[in-house]
Amino acid sequence: MKAIFLDRDGVINRYPGDTKYVTSVKDFRFLPGAKQAIARLHQAGFRIFVISNQAGVGKGIYSRKELDNITRKMLLGIRSAGGNIDKVYYCTHRKEENCSCRKPQTGMLKSARREYQLDLKKAIFIGDTIRDVHTARNAGCESYLVLCGKEKTANRKNWQIQPDKVFANLRKAAGFILSSL
Ligand SMILES: [Mg+2]
Ligand SMILES: [Zn+2]
Repeated sequence: MKAIFLDRDGVINRYPGDTKYVTSVKDFRFLPGAKQAIARLHQAGFRIFVISNQAGVGKGIYSRKELDNITRKMLLGIRSAGGNIDKVYYCTHRKEENCSCRKPQTGMLKSARREYQLDLKKAIFIGDTIRDVHTARNAGCESYLVLCGKEKTANRKNWQIQPDKVFANLRKAAGFILSSL
């Protein structure tokens, strides 16, 4: 089964801003078309995973419980649109903890590979930051960058790594994936 990994903030929901976090349920707002894009990919048979750094928990800015509440809202919204997320992976560590899961490390992707018997070389990672592109490359996944979050094409010359493909948003990325089946 082919897998699609999605970063969360700036891909599924509105990017909270540099150095900021989604700290409460009310701050979690779906980007236009994101739920529908996930529904279409799910209905096409893809396994879909969320892969997200949430160091704000490790820093004590918001609690694990609040993060779980945010996740519940996200999953309910996606399910009510006809979609599904197979599993949500978070790294809640601070950078200083030097864990193996914080992106651009690949620990979360490797957990998904182990738990769902995935071939990471056939998987697509969709993110809104250059760190996501590095994560995809480190894991051997195809790398799609969406411009509905942190990154803008104006910065392209500063990117230390180029994504395999660039799309305006998740809806466009999903359209491309489905059109190339
Ligand atoms: Mg993001
Ligand atoms: Zn971690």
